[in-house]
Amino acid sequence: MAFSFNSMWNYRCPRCRHGSIFSKPFQLSKPLEMPKKCEYCGQVTTPEPGFYYGAMFLSYILSSWFVLIPTLVLVFYFKWSVGGAMAIAIALTAVTYLKFLRGSRSLWLHMMVKHDSKVEEEVSEKIEMRKNTAWKPNVNKQDVNG
Ligand SMILES: [Zn+2]
Repeated sequence: MAFSFNSMWNYRCPRCRHGSIFSKPFQLSKPLEMPKKCEYCGQVTTPEPGFYYGAMFLSYILSSWFVLIPTLVLVFYFKWSVGGAMAIAIALTAVTYLKFLRGSRSLWLHMMVKHDSKVEEEVSEKIEMRKNTAWKPNVNKQDVNG
């Protein structure tokens, strides 16, 4: 499939679906810090200056609908007061702030960069090989001790 919601939601590289597009570990002071390239396939995370300008509009559109619809339902269907519904709107915005901030960048990158199943397979094999080589020395140690 061309688009993977799972990969977008978990901030994976859109090309190989393995590398993380945000720097780890997560720092609250730098929520948008990204590595220059995907650690596995080398996909550039910021293809050009101002690339994520469009993500700002995505974030604005998605988050406003996400907050507006429940707020309108509370006021017009459940007959809540505007103040009460506003408190819920603010709480919803606070709770989902980081998800929309990073998620919109991830979605934007996933819209612009095509998935490459060949690269994904190659990276999967590399990861599997790394696991195996990391595991072998332990076996050798056991052999020496045993
Ligand atoms: Zn990648």
